Amino acid sequence: MGYQFVKSAAAFAEAKEYIPGGVNSPVRSFRGVGGTPPFIARAAGSRLYDIDGNEYIDYVGSWGPMILGHAHPAVTAALQKAVLQGTSYGAPTLLETELAQLIRLAFPSMELVRMVNSGTEATMSVLRLARAYTKRSRIVKFVGCYHGHHDSLLVKAGSGAATLGVPDSPGVPASVAGGTISVPYNDADTLAQVFAQYGEDIAAVIIEPVAGNMGLVPPCEGYLQKVRDITSSYGALLIFDEVMCGFRVAYGGAQALFGIKPDLTCLGKVIGGGLPVGAYGGRRDIMEHIAPAGPVYQAGTLSGNPLAMSAGIATLRTLTADPDMYRKLTGKTAALAVGLRNQAERYGLSLQFHQLGSMFGLFFTDQPVYDYDSATTADTEAFAVYFHTMLENGIYLAPSQFEAGFMSAAHSEADIAATIAASAKAFAKVA
Ligand code: PLP
Repeated sequence: MGYQFVKSAAAFAEAKEYIPGGVNSPVRSFRGVGGTPPFIARAAGSRLYDIDGNEYIDYVGSWGPMILGHAHPAVTAALQKAVLQGTSYGAPTLLETELAQLIRLAFPSMELVRMVNSGTEATMSVLRLARAYTKRSRIVKFVGCYHGHHDSLLVKAGSGAATLGVPDSPGVPASVAGGTISVPYNDADTLAQVFAQYGEDIAAVIIEPVAGNMGLVPPCEGYLQKVRDITSSYGALLIFDEVMCGFRVAYGGAQALFGIKPDLTCLGKVIGGGLPVGAYGGRRDIMEHIAPAGPVYQAGTLSGNPLAMSAGIATLRTLTADPDMYRKLTGKTAALAVGLRNQAERYGLSLQFHQLGSMFGLFFTDQPVYDYDSATTADTEAFAVYFHTMLENGIYLAPSQFEAGFMSAAHSEADIAATIAASAKAFAKVA
């Protein structure tokens, strides 16, 4: 029998008639691995079901938000209640304060929190704030870290050394990209050199403290502390983009896990429970520059939307209701790591499998992976074979080895055993 994608192929062809590339976000098109993306009909728990009737164990989780699994009863109940009370008011609600309180409890560095509608909006807004607060113009980011698709952060950098930003997409003005300096991740020396040269003009350093957008690449021992020390000594702000790793590597994110206090933090994904949301926040004296408390303009018709707030509150309350939640999430992800590493060894494959909390990533390379350049030593053709074999065996992974995978509370031991068994088949094909 096997998996067939007949209806999805037709749906993809039709979608291309109306939507650029047939998708509303590029990675969904499977452009890195080829083939037809399954069109999803519904999801429940750890499972996705496509329009051809195929069932998958899902490790994408909508790219991170679905930490409780799909259609979790607490989240659906909260949404059902909220939807009957109207879907948007454009006026303050109690829900917004409640979610901000929950966020601050988890991330005490976020003394004030502003809700927006996506991670992109959060990082875009936070840069304006950082520039206004410091009265400086340059931003430092890390090669391979993704912070959304706005102009200042959509920059490419050469490998190895620090590079002044050049646009990563047509349409990004060189003048905007030029204000962004890119340096290699996990390399404090290059960051220090950049500060020695440009330090007086650097408004902020923005970092994924646990990188999830070059595959999963954790920070080396002591690295984040060095980044904190360098930024502090030059009076630049440190921005943790925890849109992905927040509530994932630990409930309090990377800042709790590694004990580093950033000045500002961006969140998204989990805090919306699967609805469109983002947030940024940080030191009160900085955040009070945001309108209407201060002069830095930022606004949103749907910001703090009651459905998104309700789904987010239900998600965070469910995460904290079980004191063992994070131990279990981490334990399941670790079990997957052990199983896959063992299988790879059995088939004589060079595989780097990274895991932190409920995030994971795998690279088909014999090199240690600690930054973007080392990540790109991974064999993308081997990954494409692995990916498609997994898909046809009912395992839905991100269609690129430069994306993280996500475990949810809904994944069972049987799901993990099935994933390891499917991996054995996939590794056999790759080997
Ligand atoms: N920051 C990080 C670390 C992300 O992983 C993402 C998206 O994957 C974003 C920002 C952008 O978020 P959004 O896609 O909600 O705009």
